[in-house]
Amino acid sequence: MNWITNYVRPRINSIFSRREIPENLWTKCDECGTMLFHRELSDNLNVCTNCGHHMGITPRARFTALFDGGIFSEVEVPAPTPDPLHFRDQKKYPDRLRAAQKATGEKEAMLVATGEMGRTPIVAAAQDFSFMAGSMGMYVGNAIIAAAEAAVKLKRPLILFSAAGGARMQEGILSLMQMPRTTVAVQMLKEANLPYIVVLTHPTTGGVTASYAMLGDVQIAEPGALICFAGPRVIEQTIREKLPEGFQRAEYLLDHGMLDRVTPRTQLRDELITITRMLMGLPPAIKGDLPAPGPEAQPQQDATQK
Ligand SMILES: [Zn+2]
Repeated sequence: MNWITNYVRPRINSIFSRREIPENLWTKCDECGTMLFHRELSDNLNVCTNCGHHMGITPRARFTALFDGGIFSEVEVPAPTPDPLHFRDQKKYPDRLRAAQKATGEKEAMLVATGEMGRTPIVAAAQDFSFMAGSMGMYVGNAIIAAAEAAVKLKRPLILFSAAGGARMQEGILSLMQMPRTTVAVQMLKEANLPYIVVLTHPTTGGVTASYAMLGDVQIAEPGALICFAGPRVIEQTIREKLPEGFQRAEYLLDHGMLDRVTPRTQLRDELITITRMLMGLPPAIKGDLPAPGPEAQPQQDATQK
């Protein structure tokens, strides 16, 4: 029995282990396993600084990084009838919705905003994969219609960031009806001669790829994003064949003519500024002259609001 090894050393060890940095300050990259400091990761728009793997990003964080000075005005989305089918699986649909609202702090799976990006006025909509897998229900349908209407009214291009597991099964056929509804909304933009740019992010699947996510004038995707109607596992089981490497990933789709560009998230803003200015007939942006995104920049008023 030794007083030092049995009593003092464990006490000292416990004091030191308690001083370790709390785990929640770090995120492990799913791809390369590197431990990334939260601040460093969010400064790099949730892209791994070691291997370039693109992790999920919330619409709010995306908009802060997209709009000049991180300033944008939210576009109000009409609320649909809650739980029209009184759907229940293991949980009631309204309970699932409430849980998602609590976990994300958002009303629903899509955020619509207006503002300026590199002094270019735009309307943007972004789908939130962390909200019930970004599933397309009536609210998302309403959000896309609200975004298209705002773009037509303000004569601005619409930029849409998609991320979805597909249709929202708790709304049954009503969620499937959002496919034609959103297609009509996109048509409104085409009739008004306004550009519609889609940025496909990981993952964009199901009914979303069968409607608004594939109807852009320019189709951009983030690196490594899974973009498909039916997932690789389903296809593999159906055809009983091994699928080629990288099947249904952004780079594969670019090689096969389904996309125009694959652009890393950190370069996306500059590219979107160039494309929207070109399509809107505005003079090209001069590098170094444009306002920076994010909260560090000087706040700027969105001139067209109010
Ligand atoms: Zn990584």
